[in-house]
Amino acid sequence: MTRSVHLTERHEEFRTRVRAVLEALVLPAGESWERDGALPRTAWKVLGDEGLLGLLHPRRVGGAEQDLFTSVVFLEELGRTGFGGFRAAVSVHAYMATHYLARAREPGLDRDWLAPAVRGERVAALAITEPGAGADLSGLVTTAAPDGDHFVVRGVKSMVSNGTTADFHVVAVRTSPPADSGPRGTTGLSLLVVDARLPGITTEPVTTLGWRSAGTATVTYDGVRVPAGCLLGRPGSGFYQLMRGLQLERLVAAAAALGGMDRCLEDTRRFLTERRAFGGHLADLQAPAHRIADLATDLAAARQLVYHAAWLYAQGELPATECSMAKLHTTELACRLADAALQLQGSAGYLDSSAISRIHRDARAATIAAGPSEVMRDLVARSVLRTPAS
Ligand SMILES: Cc1cc2nc3c(=O)[nH]c(=O)nc-3n(C[C@H](O)[C@H](O)[C@H](O)COP(=O)(O)OP(=O)(O)OC[C@H]3O[C@@H](n4cnc5c(N)ncnc54)[C@H](O)[C@@H]3O)c2cc1C
Repeated sequence: MTRSVHLTERHEEFRTRVRAVLEALVLPAGESWERDGALPRTAWKVLGDEGLLGLLHPRRVGGAEQDLFTSVVFLEELGRTGFGGFRAAVSVHAYMATHYLARAREPGLDRDWLAPAVRGERVAALAITEPGAGADLSGLVTTAAPDGDHFVVRGVKSMVSNGTTADFHVVAVRTSPPADSGPRGTTGLSLLVVDARLPGITTEPVTTLGWRSAGTATVTYDGVRVPAGCLLGRPGSGFYQLMRGLQLERLVAAAAALGGMDRCLEDTRRFLTERRAFGGHLADLQAPAHRIADLATDLAAARQLVYHAAWLYAQGELPATECSMAKLHTTELACRLADAALQLQGSAGYLDSSAISRIHRDARAATIAAGPSEVMRDLVARSVLRTPAS
């Protein structure tokens, strides 16, 4: 049990239920999903039927409308499965792509996309990054030109998680030219919901170091005609929507990383207590025991940081600094922890088939996805440097 002032008995009961659902779903099949490169439809349906794809979403679309800490628990448990690709696929669907639809409150889009996504019948992807623009959104060049009651979309999106399987994409597009290069280049951006079956869309799977079951793809939009009603919010409000959504995205990445580290520590503890050496067990040696003590302490501190950011977010604030700190600290700690855990598990951990080698690969993705560590540091530095010490 994770003791915290933020977690009630109800959260812990929920954790017990979710852990059982995820263990039954993921542990027997996770390796085959990694080989297939994506999650099967049946997995999405199980998650939908269990009510796990709409924990934050409103009741009007079948969501559970639970408090944020219910989602924090869910994300920790997603991470605790030890399958980063699974955790990424589900969190992109449930907290990143569909988040923008839930905020837009468009009845037609609710009916056609959001409600089926909550039921696990339709899979969502978020397509922002392009071959020529990642961390710097002002460089996005995918256009959506108005044409009667449609937009015509042209451009290429890269690193799209769930890209190989998604039924719809939330796509960042330019509905009008940027005001300027540099920061003003973020004007004219909009978000559009695009049916993945529309003519003119091609999807190319890409092979990645980790997150192998996340269905990562490059998606090309070549003159795709999208109904004007698929625009989320006002034309040109895309950057504003993304800046809000990215805070949640960072919090989600941080909470899921906590669970990944729980798995990593638990596996390493088991290894050290079972592995016989030097007349006892490895856990009896002071060096590994102290290493575990340090890692457990770092993880406990990281959890407080993430819970604090989540608590601020739940108060209705948009705690950009705390979300960035939480994402930066947890995702980097997850890399250090995975590396230490692999060392502690010796050659058994180095085998390609070991859980820790997968966790090690997967940890690397999270310091880049949802904004690289350097961008998090920029955001934190800006806030710290402009705020006088109290
Ligand atoms: C596994 C994975 C899954 C992803 N899933 C999605 C998805 O579903 N949808 C989507 O749209 N995108 C996705 N992305 C893309 C992700 O959001 C981008 O990788 C990220 O925004 C960084 O963009 P980039 O990779 O193009 O790096 P670039 O912008 O080319 O930057 C390269 C490197 O330069 C450094 N850098 C960048 N900016 C700064 C700065 N301001 N100061 C100092 N150094 C800097 C960083 O080290 C950075 O890693 C995913 C990425 C990964 C790795």
